[in-house]
Amino acid sequence: MVKKSVIKILVLDDEPFMLKLLGRMLADLGFIQVTTCDSGRSALEWIDCPNSPPDVILLDLNMPEMDGVEFVRHLVERCYTGSIILVSAEDERMLQTAEKLVQAHKIPVLGHLHKPFKPENLSALLELWTPPYRGEPRTVKKTYDADQVRAAIVNGELVNYYQPKVELASGKVVGVESLVRWFHPQDGMVLPDQFIGVAEEHGLIDDLTRIVVDNAFAQAKIWQDNGLHLRVALNISMDNLATLAFADYVIDAALAAGITPDGIVLEVTESRLMKNLSEPLEILTRLRLKRFSLSIDDFGTGHSSLNQLRDIPFDELKVDQGFVHGAVSNDTLRAICCASLSLAQQMGMKTVAEGVEDLADWDFLRTTSCDLAQGYFIAKPMSADKILEWISAWEANIETLIKSPCVTSADRKWNADGT
Ligand code: C2E
Ligand code: CA
Ligand code: CA
Repeated sequence: MVKKSVIKILVLDDEPFMLKLLGRMLADLGFIQVTTCDSGRSALEWIDCPNSPPDVILLDLNMPEMDGVEFVRHLVERCYTGSIILVSAEDERMLQTAEKLVQAHKIPVLGHLHKPFKPENLSALLELWTPPYRGEPRTVKKTYDADQVRAAIVNGELVNYYQPKVELASGKVVGVESLVRWFHPQDGMVLPDQFIGVAEEHGLIDDLTRIVVDNAFAQAKIWQDNGLHLRVALNISMDNLATLAFADYVIDAALAAGITPDGIVLEVTESRLMKNLSEPLEILTRLRLKRFSLSIDDFGTGHSSLNQLRDIPFDELKVDQGFVHGAVSNDTLRAICCASLSLAQQMGMKTVAEGVEDLADWDFLRTTSCDLAQGYFIAKPMSADKILEWISAWEANIETLIKSPCVTSADRKWNADGT
């Protein structure tokens, strides 16, 4: 940690008692460069002084003249480069929302303190402080144009990576999701969010998806011939579902590769609003009749997830990672996550939680009715040739992760509303 004596702290709170209390706490913790202000105006005057601005501001949200949110706006105008700790008696949701607001202005938030709090809580947050990065600004993500993406498709530069999906009850690896990567001759590995949108906008997504489908089905056949029965999931763009020929392509490709549709999951997301739903509905229904599984991806984030759930015969629901990671300690996320799982269960669908990033996420999900987990805690997406080795390593270590009994849907800990 950086030496406490060099960190400059500004405390802004309209209550004199709080200013005194925080001043004392900080002194006891060894912070000596502390300034206290009882209004946003006086704090800004201090910041505008030739003294260099504070490294950390302890900011009260509720103040009579200028509130904390307005104060942050003034900091943005001044290009403030330090960090903020929010301090308030508001409820947890309000504090989290305020934290997101500050982060949206690219000001680092070390965390929030809910009044009343202990010196240990304050100390733990201040330990997170690091000096601002003063090197080159981070490079902006490169964008590619339609010709470049077209060339990537034609030149065979697209490769499928695979991310494992495991059963929460047993830890068994039951499937993989194919995630496309572009190996650019100069730029190296390019992630899908840098080119899928371009492909969709310029009518290239059908050609791209066909390559992904061919590669994934060929790989599924290799695994199958090696006695490895993995369900292989593919991402399908809504734009793929605009022409009826797409269903025929997928059906024929499975036949040609020598695999059966029941081992294939098609994950569908609605990235933009579809004007005409009759084609997608027809294509997805045909694919389902042929025994392909249909999964509703990123559930809860699209334009009309509930409409889709009503109209399309999905048999799997993927709870978006935004509602999974950290759900155990966040009432709002937990309520959304558990309600989505319950909804799927009532409709007889399998459930997958994505974005399982740590042990806390994993342990939490094992107390819910969720069937499968996917995320960095289990494995990052990898090339097909790494999968076998990874499965052996995972299965050798799984015992400790499944020690506590997995709660069945009948006696699960969390209710549908996450309480
Ligand atoms: P997605 O289908 O929601 O895939 C999950 C994304 O989250 C992947 O990013 C994956 O690498 C990442 N991820 C996995 N586990 C974790 C985790 O624990 N934490 C976090 N923060 N992220 C995690 P990726 O590979 O960059 O793909 C992004 C999106 O691009 C995918 O989101 C999917 O919508 C799209 N995509 C990928 N491959 C294809 C494809 O072949 N066709 C189409 N149409 N879209 C694709
Ligand atoms: Ca997906
Ligand atoms: Ca997703």
